[in-house]
Amino acid sequence: MPRYVLTGPNIVKKIDSVFNYLKIRNVKALLISGNSYTKEIALDVIKNEVEKYNHEVVHYSIENLNDVINNLQDLAHKIKEEKINILIGVGGGKSIDSAKLLAWYSNKPYISLPTNVSHDGISSPSISYIISQKLKSKYDIDFGLKSPLAIIADTNLIIKGLKYSLAAGVGDLIAKFTAVKDWRLTHLLKGEEYSEYAASMALMSARIVEKNIEVISKYTEKSVSILLKALIGSGIAIAVAGSSRPASGSEHLFSHSLDIIAEKEGFEPAQHGIQCGIGTIIMGILHGIKWKKIRNTLQMVKAPVNSKELGIDAKYLIKALTIANKIRKDRYTILGDTEITPNIAEKLLKMAEII
Ligand SMILES: [Zn+2]
Repeated sequence: MPRYVLTGPNIVKKIDSVFNYLKIRNVKALLISGNSYTKEIALDVIKNEVEKYNHEVVHYSIENLNDVINNLQDLAHKIKEEKINILIGVGGGKSIDSAKLLAWYSNKPYISLPTNVSHDGISSPSISYIISQKLKSKYDIDFGLKSPLAIIADTNLIIKGLKYSLAAGVGDLIAKFTAVKDWRLTHLLKGEEYSEYAASMALMSARIVEKNIEVISKYTEKSVSILLKALIGSGIAIAVAGSSRPASGSEHLFSHSLDIIAEKEGFEPAQHGIQCGIGTIIMGILHGIKWKKIRNTLQMVKAPVNSKELGIDAKYLIKALTIANKIRKDRYTILGDTEITPNIAEKLLKMAEII
């Protein structure tokens, strides 16, 4: 579990006190960011803030997560050589997952410093499933779990990037409705271990979003703090369960499938949370929950709810649904384990008014 969670406007100014709480002396930090908006924040804001206290900072920006996978050993070597004692992931999923992965691999602590609220990777101990698979195939190692030592979420920084991330955050959180249903189903049907506590925490995150969607949709600091509360709750649910089970079910499998197809076919997938939102509508129908309410919640924050708004061709959505129950053998869901034909996938997507 994270030891310190600091959220609020300009909270980044407290970064030195976080080092103190964590008893990290002679700070030498590795800042990891993306290479556009988050790079600016890392260099213009965070680096200055850390250097103010005579700490040393090394910066590394990544294009995509493959960068870290491909350079894992070099980077770990650099961390050792330069005597880095704390990693800080600045940005969204990619930067924070990179910091998480590197921190785990080189056995160093890391701080999560999110600049958006687009998914619960900012607080969870797990990395993206696709990346963990790449790690497995390239180095034959299994990523364990690694929680951030601290989360510093500066709402001012997040508000600046809000228009890109708010709708995705809502999608990733609403996904917990079907994820928990899938978990419970697998518990009852296959005897998978189930934690009522972790399940309730994940569900609470989805409920917080549904209940406060009107306030969230105003794009204010209040929106950010509600989303952060829910995202952090979901990350902790994952830590309690010791797996991403409470936060990731069939709707996530659908999103992962779209990512796989996008890479193969050479198109740009939508954000993780956006795709999960669409997945939740589909799986909501299968689970017999109020899927229209889920769709309304997504629409309140202008999240795409169909193929056209998503900008992904119907044929890829159909394909994604046919492979979603095959990509992850260890995760049984409402999609079952028998073949889903393109015909059935198409019918279901039409029923959900997605195509
Ligand atoms: Zn997710």
